[in-house]
Amino acid sequence: MRLANVDERLMVARTGGGFVDLATASAGRFGPDPQSVYERWEEFADWAGTAGEWTDAGYDPPVQSLGAPVPRPRQVFAAALNYREHAAEGGFDAPTVPQIFTKYPSCLTGPVTEVALATDKVDWEAELVIVIGRRAYMVPRDAAWSHVAGVMAGQDLSARDVQRTGPTPQFSLAKSFPGFGPTGPWVVSADEFGEEPAEIECLLNGELVQHASSAEMIFSVADLIEHISRITPMLPGDLLFTGTPAGVGARRDPPRFLREDDRLLTRIARIGELTQVFRAA
Ligand code: ZN
Repeated sequence: MRLANVDERLMVARTGGGFVDLATASAGRFGPDPQSVYERWEEFADWAGTAGEWTDAGYDPPVQSLGAPVPRPRQVFAAALNYREHAAEGGFDAPTVPQIFTKYPSCLTGPVTEVALATDKVDWEAELVIVIGRRAYMVPRDAAWSHVAGVMAGQDLSARDVQRTGPTPQFSLAKSFPGFGPTGPWVVSADEFGEEPAEIECLLNGELVQHASSAEMIFSVADLIEHISRITPMLPGDLLFTGTPAGVGARRDPPRFLREDDRLLTRIARIGELTQVFRAA
């Protein structure tokens, strides 16, 4: 099942195209707020499993109507240096403990957006994003996926100059300018996404700049949930950005940063794609 935010209403994206409004389809039991379903994920999944094939006439909105599938998470966790080649391109050894920071939720957007270039050092990071569907506290890795509602594609846009201001990294602020958290195009439920690794691609103006498999993560999704939930509860509707593969702009020779009119496409197999076009601030 694929759950989208269409004009701030929770909708199912049908396999054959179009969207079905869940508040209507469930006679008001779920939705319309796209965030609310994660508080009752198991109840919703049970109901959805019996709800049939979503054959009713669907909406077919313009892509710009798609908002952040999970618009108001209470917490957004993000992993740094979670791919060996990406750590190496930055001159770092692979971490032995997950490196976690946050993106402030106000930066989150839907899948097709224009982004203002907050500085002249804005960089791309294609990432698999996890959506929590059941409170996770002290969860061992073997049980971690049972706390996951689904997955999305994400971009962890990052102002590298802000990130490197001062003696310690400023990850959270540098990655939280307005529009710096594109997500979507929808949440693919964990059962539909399955357990196979997924290919992650990032294309800048048609050129492939990042290409990896989620299997290359140093710390798997389950490892990350075990580590974070040992310290702080992960709440329904929280997000986890799982880190980016090699190929970011700052580590290219010469470095390459996003410029006005650049078109960035982020694609994850079995999920879908995001498109960002950049504008002068
Ligand atoms: Zn990142």
